[in-house]
Amino acid sequence: MRRAVVLGGSIAGLLAARVLSDHADEVLVLERDDVAPSGAFGGDREPRPGVPQGTQMHALLDAGRRRIDQWFPGFATELVADGATLADTGSSVHSYLEGSLKVPVDGVEMISATRPFLEAHLRRRVMALDNLRLVNGRVRGLAFTGERVSGVRYAGTGTADEEVLDADLVVDATGRASRIGAWLQEGGWPEPTTRRMHVDLGYATALFRRPEGPHGATLAQSLATLPDGRLRLGTLGRVEGDRWIVLVAGYADDRPGRGIEEFLLRCKEDPAAPFRQLAEDGEPIGEPVSYRHPDNRRRDFHLLDRFPAGLIATGDTLASFNPIYGQGMSSATMHASCLAAYLESGPSLRDPAWSYFKQTRAVVDDAWQTSALNDLKLPHVPGPRPRGFKVASRLSDLIVRASVTDPVIHRRFLEVMHMLSPAKTLMRPGTLMRAARAVRKRNTPAAGAPLNTAA
Ligand SMILES: Cc1cc2nc3c(=O)[nH]c(=O)nc-3n(C[C@H](O)[C@H](O)[C@H](O)COP(=O)(O)OP(=O)(O)OC[C@H]3O[C@@H](n4cnc5c(N)ncnc54)[C@H](O)[C@@H]3O)c2cc1C
Repeated sequence: MRRAVVLGGSIAGLLAARVLSDHADEVLVLERDDVAPSGAFGGDREPRPGVPQGTQMHALLDAGRRRIDQWFPGFATELVADGATLADTGSSVHSYLEGSLKVPVDGVEMISATRPFLEAHLRRRVMALDNLRLVNGRVRGLAFTGERVSGVRYAGTGTADEEVLDADLVVDATGRASRIGAWLQEGGWPEPTTRRMHVDLGYATALFRRPEGPHGATLAQSLATLPDGRLRLGTLGRVEGDRWIVLVAGYADDRPGRGIEEFLLRCKEDPAAPFRQLAEDGEPIGEPVSYRHPDNRRRDFHLLDRFPAGLIATGDTLASFNPIYGQGMSSATMHASCLAAYLESGPSLRDPAWSYFKQTRAVVDDAWQTSALNDLKLPHVPGPRPRGFKVASRLSDLIVRASVTDPVIHRRFLEVMHMLSPAKTLMRPGTLMRAARAVRKRNTPAAGAPLNTAA
């Protein structure tokens, strides 16, 4: 391949660029924010306009951490040396369900750092690749030649003039608001159906100064139902700069408002000890920032019957899930693995990349299943609920309740939540029987709660 152009230089775009650098003479990453090291958004502290979710808590699950470490050896070690936390579910991740601490199990690790910090470190490694170049500009559309995409139309910063970058392969990584449907239509191609699941999730994230956490965790997660039935979610993690990042979340009308007082009140209402402790003696840095996530979405490229050659999509452009499960960045690493497998299979770039879309469909299906099964349990989420939903939902509740006390079930649960095993492994008869025994043995918290949160 002579030249590949990646649209969007966030997590999914950077990972795709890393893969492409093994297959193309030249890789260009076209990004509208000025993320060059000397640019306005090149640092590792400030969230940038193109990634508004960058103000919110982000944790990198084990599946994503492992893959990034393969592409960039020593990546996790480097993050930790710069102040991030590598949290292990055996010793330093404390998960609470209805205020009960789950039994610890070893061997699943996640990274806790702020999102700008994570992205800046990844960008630094990607930009060190010899055949890679960053282009600062805004994508306007695709260029087509015959049955293929032959380039990208874009406007450089500070100019309205349109230029074209020729490419053998274009990768759309512009995120969940991608305009890929409109770009395809402009070229006379059908646009993919976008499926949406309305979840109406409200997030708020605040930073706190970090004297050592007396509760002994480097990362704590809590899922709890208030006496009036409202479901509350919270995560706190040690991050770079000797700080805690703390997230509180709720659904529909129960979304967190503005202001540190309400934020601290929510922490106080959480039955998990670390959150109450934080409410008591935490020292906030500035005000919390809120964020609304209206819906989960996926674009069904695999259902199209016509698609141009020379174009693929990755990351949130393909699917974006309820952020509570923390699957987005790890999904992007899996899409990048699918891209690597596709390119290693020696495909003709004159044909549409159907085999790539087939593989990513399986990855998206799995993450979507985890997220959708749990989101559909929420009464305010409109259906339709698929056939067999009630049974699946009861079985998943059983697993969650058993994971509080049974280390084997907890480990299997964590492996699914960290995207190391497919969701269906939790539905194996042996696992379900063990979970039923564990629940019978102990009086664990009430059913009806969705799976525990990952981030
Ligand atoms: C509140 C919240 C919390 C989350 N927490 C987690 C978490 O804990 N763990 C996790 O793994 N994931 C989390 N995610 C998901 C995660 O943020 C994304 O999955 C991840 O950023 C990968 O997205 P992406 O690279 O596909 O797109 P994005 O990160 O949205 O990036 C899109 C990029 O494209 C650029 N762009 C857009 N349009 C154009 C254009 N026309 N021209 C040029 N450039 C353009 C943007 O500037 C941006 O750089 C969370 C998401 C949200 C909303």
